[in-house]
Formats: sequence, structure tokens, C-alpha cells
Amino acid sequence: MVKQIVEAAENGKIRCDACPVMCFIADGRSGACDRYANEGGELIRVDPLTIIEGTVSAGGKIVPFMPDHPEDEWNGDLVNARKPFITAVGAGTTYPDYKPAPFIVSQKQNGVDMVTVVTEGIFSYCGAKVKIDTDRFLGPEAAAVRVDGEPVGHVMTGEYGSQMLSLGGVHHLTGGSKKEGRVTCDALLRLCNSEAVEMVIDGGASIIVQAGKAPIINGAEEHRMRVGCGSATIGMFAKQWKDMVDEVVVVDDHITGVLSEHQAGKLLNIAPTGIKIKGRRSTPGRYFQVAEPGTGWGGTNIDDPLIILGDFDPKTAYPGLRMLMVSTTGEQYGYYILDDQLRPELQTLLPAPVQESVEIIAENCEPALATVLFMGGAGGSLRAGVTTNPVRLTRSVKEALTHVSCGGAPAYVWPGGGITVMADVTEMPSNSFGYVPTPALVAPIEFTMRLADYEALGGHMEAIIPIEQAIELAERKVAPTQGSWPTSERNFKWGA
Ligand code: SF4
Repeated sequence: MVKQIVEAAENGKIRCDACPVMCFIADGRSGACDRYANEGGELIRVDPLTIIEGTVSAGGKIVPFMPDHPEDEWNGDLVNARKPFITAVGAGTTYPDYKPAPFIVSQKQNGVDMVTVVTEGIFSYCGAKVKIDTDRFLGPEAAAVRVDGEPVGHVMTGEYGSQMLSLGGVHHLTGGSKKEGRVTCDALLRLCNSEAVEMVIDGGASIIVQAGKAPIINGAEEHRMRVGCGSATIGMFAKQWKDMVDEVVVVDDHITGVLSEHQAGKLLNIAPTGIKIKGRRSTPGRYFQVAEPGTGWGGTNIDDPLIILGDFDPKTAYPGLRMLMVSTTGEQYGYYILDDQLRPELQTLLPAPVQESVEIIAENCEPALATVLFMGGAGGSLRAGVTTNPVRLTRSVKEALTHVSCGGAPAYVWPGGGITVMADVTEMPSNSFGYVPTPALVAPIEFTMRLADYEALGGHMEAIIPIEQAIELAERKVAPTQGSWPTSERNFKWGA
């Protein structure tokens, strides 16, 4: 366990100053966040300090043939399997940040002296962006998302085959009632630690979301992400349908496609069928608003697709005309033949090639997943734990001289002011996130750069320790879950 310096004690209790709560902790007890404890008068970080170690399966596959530097000569380690990287998970915080970050470690990367600064940031301004692969209607845009009745975020946009939620943020964490802040913080903590969270959307669905798992919507597990919108589906499969059927309608909440009118149908010389779609025609063979959003066919609210059709034009349609109606996931489908009155009659048996084509749509759907991206801004005080001149760290990140990672996982740095990052929580070590009851989320963040660049930005040079010293304290070693390595040259402007 990483030991922290005890700055104050009172009546046998020691004070933790890792966050503004400033708990006094009795021997054998932990503080309000369960992250720090008093063990025989020593203040310890409870969660293990975590090192990522390159492994045979996940580490670098390339060994330099003729290394420039003697220290890179082959030592029998085929895949650099023992290459370590210190993460901020379990490292601790440095609130208030007048002092250096908990670990500032040096190591060599192919002969270059590198430094990694690690700290567990306390993020009052943070949230999660959630992508849910489904066409089903989750709720109106901007509707509140609730956990235990408290608003914890809102519905954002519908994207290609996915619905997006924005959760957390400073207004829910600290801007509402005490309960709202507590529930929001708890929901974010569980989501970011890849646990399941149940939410209810105002005017919409009840959902269970867990990072990397299929979403559960109104009690039903979602299986497939749609292959594309109705128009895209026509483009993908038009050739297969050419001689199999006379008409295909792909029902979709976004764009419903009609084969005979679609450009793909025109190029394949599919004859007009006299079909009429009740919806807003966008371009030939592409219709918006054929129904309301819902949990039925193609993310609409319909169970019977025939209600989106008007009467067939008798000048063009004919008895015996064969029509396939299908949703964008292939989950719903119907094969119809026009009777003597030009009314579509549902067939109980599908011709084998039509059945096969429906199965190909389904096969082309990817598994529906929920994705959780942690999003937070590294504030000025956190940056002060890295350098005596915090703005230089921001500039160094923007100039691609400093690489940012979260628990070793690559972090996308937003353009513009500050260091605002997003990271996929499934790429981070398990239980990377904690909380403090202010309320705020605690998340790992690491800054890696060349030693010379660290010195130039006013780094705490006196606090640097070699990686070997840090590894002695590490209790947990995990393999990287992604291909990129935080100290790799390709992350930096000078190594590109
Ligand atoms: S809440 Fe946790 S981090 Fe904050 S002072 Fe208490 S024990 Fe320390």
C-alpha cells in the first residue's frame, strides 16, 4: 500500500488531506471515501498501486534488429514482456496541489529519458458520455435521465445506429440538491467502473447500461446494432434482391428505403411498382417520418409495417407483385404478394432466397453494446502537481510533447482551452475510479514526456524517482488492454 505523509493528528486520529473533506481517521478505520485508511498510525492508500506490464500477448511484438543504444540490446526477452508503466490507479492525490504529484517517475524508452507524472485527479467537473447501440426510442432529445428519481443527465443526439446520453457534469454533481449530487456521483462511479446502472428517461424507456455489455431496454436485452439506415440497407443488398422480389421496403425511423425508387434500384433497372409510402419524401426512394419513434420496426412505433403504405397505383401495380418489408436489423420482416385488389397479403412461408437475404441483413449487424467514455478536465490545481507553471503543461499537451493517458488507456484530448480528456473506461484497469463525498469522481491521469521537456515546463525535478523504486510499491500488475503504449514514440511530435 502506498503510504501518505501524515500532516496532522488529533485525539489519536490522523488527518487525511487528499481532498477538501479532510477526514480525521481513527486507527483501523477508513475515511469517508473508503480510499484512505489509518493503519497503525500510518495513512495508507487502500487500493493497490497499479502497474501496467507489457505481456507476451499484449506487449510490443518488435525487437530492434540493431539497436542504437546498448541498453536496448536483446536480453532474451522476445517481446519486451517486462516493460512497465506506472498508472495513477492507487497512487493517491495531492490536494491541495502546492506539492508535487504522488509519483513522478523516470524510465528509458529506446534510449530516451522519459518522465511520467501520475495523480488521481478529483474531478468535480466531469461526466460520462454513453453510446447505446439501438434504434429503439429511449426518450426525447434533452429529456432528463434519472437514477433513483434524481436527474443525472440527459438524452443527447441519435447517431448512426446508436442513442447518446450525456451524464454527470458539474450542474448535477454540485448544482442541484445534496441527494442529486450523491446519486449522480454514485451512478458515474458505477458506470466508469463498468458496473450496471439502471436509469429511467422522462417520457421514454427504462434502461440498464453497463460498459461493454448489451443494453437492456424496457427489460429486453438488445442484440443487434442496425446495419445502416433504410437507404443504406437498400444500397448494400439491392443486387441480391434484383431477381428475388419486385419491391423491398426497409423500414427505419430515420430513412425508410424503397428499392424500386432508390438510385440503386434505378441502376439495376428495377421496374416501378406503383407503391406509395406515407412519409416525407427526401430524395428518390428515401423517406423521413414514416412513423413516430418507438420500440417497434426499425426504431419506429409500428408493429404492422403495412400502415406506412398507401394504396398501390393500379396503373403500375399488378396482382402477384412480390414485396419484402424488413427492418434495419432484420429482426422484423414480412413477405407479401399483391392480391387481385392490389392489397398486400402476408405470406406464411418465405421463399428460401428471401429468408436467406433477411438472415444476411441480421448477420451484418454488429452486436449491440453500451459504451461509456469518462470525460473530465484537468484543472489548474491538478496541473500544479505536475509543474510550477501550470499553463506550460497545457501547451506541452497541445504541442504533442506530453502524452495524456487515464490508467494507461489512451485519452482523447479536446481541442481548445484546458486539458479536457475522454477515455474508454473498458480500456482502463478494473476499479480505476473512486469518489470523494464533496461529491466528485476520482480518476487516474498520467502525463508522459521527455525528461528535457519536463524540465522545460517547470517540472518538479527534485521529486523524480526511477521506475524501479515505484515498482517496489506496486501491489497490482495488469496487462494493457489496448495496443498503444503510453511511452511509445509514436505518441509524441518528436517521435512521429
Ligand atoms: S474523503 Fe477520502 S480523500 Fe477525502 S479526506 Fe476523507 S479519506 Fe481523505
